Amino acid sequence: MHLQVSQLHKQFPIRRGSLVALKNINLQIEEGECICAVGASGSGKSTLLRLIAGLDTPTAGEVLVDGVRVTGPGPDRGMVFQSYTLYPWMTVAENVGFGLKLQGVSSVERRRRVAYYLEVVGLSGFAKSLPKELSGGMKQRVAIARALASQPKILLMDEPFGALDVQTKEAMQQFLLEVWQRTRTTIFMITHDVEEAVFLSQRIYVLSSRPGTVKEELSIKLPSDRTYEIKCNPLFQDYKDRVMGLLRAEEDKTLLKSSFQELPMVV
Ligand code: ADP
Ligand code: MG
Repeated sequence: MHLQVSQLHKQFPIRRGSLVALKNINLQIEEGECICAVGASGSGKSTLLRLIAGLDTPTAGEVLVDGVRVTGPGPDRGMVFQSYTLYPWMTVAENVGFGLKLQGVSSVERRRRVAYYLEVVGLSGFAKSLPKELSGGMKQRVAIARALASQPKILLMDEPFGALDVQTKEAMQQFLLEVWQRTRTTIFMITHDVEEAVFLSQRIYVLSSRPGTVKEELSIKLPSDRTYEIKCNPLFQDYKDRVMGLLRAEEDKTLLKSSFQELPMVV
């Protein structure tokens, strides 16, 4: 197993007691898979990704990458966030190469990898540009190139296209599939966009609302060389409807719970 998340539990201390964000999460991801987890806002998606990235520590349970327990961040896990996280004062090439410099990669190898991954994301002509000169979609492509440049075992993505307009977002989903097909990097992506999840994944983990737990695991049996036409395939719609239905049931449960809590006490 490439990435194994076992019995993961995360509790945050809050003013009055504690908040259980994740409960008993189990996931298995094989090398070369592109897997999405979907869940409503507040279902613990970012918390889950931060635990896998080693940016936070679990209350219980563990994350293993190739059998080795995660105890902190490492170059074996590349991360792409929703918000733009490029250094504004660095050029595109410097941004992509920055992590490699920290890892002590030689300058010759650094130049080679920066050139290669900028080509992979179609931005070779922008090596000397500053982030402010790029569109949102281009910035995210630089962030993806930066994450890939460390040649991670797993690319972790937290709603990476959430801030983009619909057209750019669709182009970026197609682009990510192409990058995945070309590099065969294992991808674990978090999203609340059901269509995005069905389009990109071989499997989808559907999370329940808080506390987040795996409600269902669905295999998406669509061809792996997907293009946008697949969205018109009735099977694509079926998968989308199924995932939507699961999420809607979770939302209803949450609404019911909160309306009970808000009922005045009858005396
Ligand atoms: P999602 O990404 O699915 O929207 P998050 O993982 O960001 O959800 O958050 C899950 C829950 O945990 C939320 O209720 C959030 O308020 C809470 N939470 C996240 N981080 C912290 C923290 N550092 N301290 C307290 N509560 C937190
Ligand atoms: Mg989040």
